[in-house]
Amino acid sequence: MSRAILPGAMVNGQMATLGVMGGGQLGRMFVHAAQAMGYFTVVLDPDAASPAGRVSHHHIQTDYLDEQGLAQLMQRCAAITTEFENVPAPALMTLGAHRPVAPASESVAIAQDRAAEKAHFVRCGVPVAPHAVIEKAVQLAAVSDDLLPGILKTSRMGYDGKGQIRVKTREELSAAWDQLKNVPCVLEKMLPLKAECSVIVARGADGQMVNFPVQSNLHRDGILAVTCVYEGAVHADVAAQAVAATRAIAEGLHYVGVLCVEFFLLEGGQLVVNEMAPRPHNSGHYTMNACDQSQFELQVRTLAGLPLTQPRQHSSAIMLNLLGDLWPEVTPTGKGPTSPAWGQVLALPGTHLHLYGKLSARPGRKMGHLNITGATPEAVRATALQAAALLGIEAF
Ligand code: ATP
Ligand code: MG
Repeated sequence: MSRAILPGAMVNGQMATLGVMGGGQLGRMFVHAAQAMGYFTVVLDPDAASPAGRVSHHHIQTDYLDEQGLAQLMQRCAAITTEFENVPAPALMTLGAHRPVAPASESVAIAQDRAAEKAHFVRCGVPVAPHAVIEKAVQLAAVSDDLLPGILKTSRMGYDGKGQIRVKTREELSAAWDQLKNVPCVLEKMLPLKAECSVIVARGADGQMVNFPVQSNLHRDGILAVTCVYEGAVHADVAAQAVAATRAIAEGLHYVGVLCVEFFLLEGGQLVVNEMAPRPHNSGHYTMNACDQSQFELQVRTLAGLPLTQPRQHSSAIMLNLLGDLWPEVTPTGKGPTSPAWGQVLALPGTHLHLYGKLSARPGRKMGHLNITGATPEAVRATALQAAALLGIEAF
């Protein structure tokens, strides 16, 4: 990926076009950023109503492994990225043989497998939670009591706390593994968390790397609920450590693209890496309104081989995730409100609403997010708490 794909340039006989595997909200925000910079876009996603497919210039509606779909994507695009970490790595490998693909299939394959991911963190010298890989019954039997109470997590395909069961005893562990259909899992010791944080970096094919400030994250029921990014939200020493660890992890992968690494801060002050996402991340959505470049713009830049400059946060920020739980249930008569109180929320200063165009709301489903920006941490917190109260989000 040595030569830049400039907006408006002719590449392979077509106007510069960027493709994305996956049509969820992250793909949608990538498409918006790419289009803002003058690129044409193509989304490959099987769902006719996918959030990104509906805003892209072109939507290839096939399965991720469909040969014709992949061939069409390659034919139309000068370079291809992914927005969904469970896009099959072999599909990215096929694409990567013919077009620049960022992140590379090798990086995505590691991030798709909790065991491989933890091994990579250890190789990079970054501490992980005590854990055991469970692929066979003998490994289950050999698990040390030190790992209990723990969380049994499927090695593959988990997100938003799905595919995870908390266990206290060996009996519960055994029942949980059966419940997860005995697929390969990782048992992690339950750690005493004081806080959670994450770091997003963008690395170009030339090895240049930039990072956003460290995000402080609050999860509820295994799902990200609130992200706070302002002076004092994360202790400066912890932040420096988290940034250094994330850079080492990206460097170790020779990563190209946007990468997010999530961390646990333990009661004792120790920083432990949790997992990584080979793509922009929910905890980085505040960058859309609080930084001079968003994580999606950096995804475009890394994919197109454009220069990277260190992003600058210009406002204190809080992001509230808008889950389907906030949508009023449709009454049998069809009367009454059908969406949250946006009018009142948008009357507050520094509120920025982002909705993903999903057609139906379900509990736990990510429908959008609200970014709140302010001149000071105190101001942004005050507004965010008001917005949360109006929306029915528990105070934080
Ligand atoms: P994501 O949507 O971020 O991909 P996921 O389904 O992969 O989520 P994890 O990040 O593994 O899930 O866990 C979700 C949340 O559960 C964490 O953010 C943390 O709050 C809690 N958690 C996970 N592992 C542990 C642990 N070992 N000890 C304590 N809490 C944990
Ligand atoms: Mg997570």
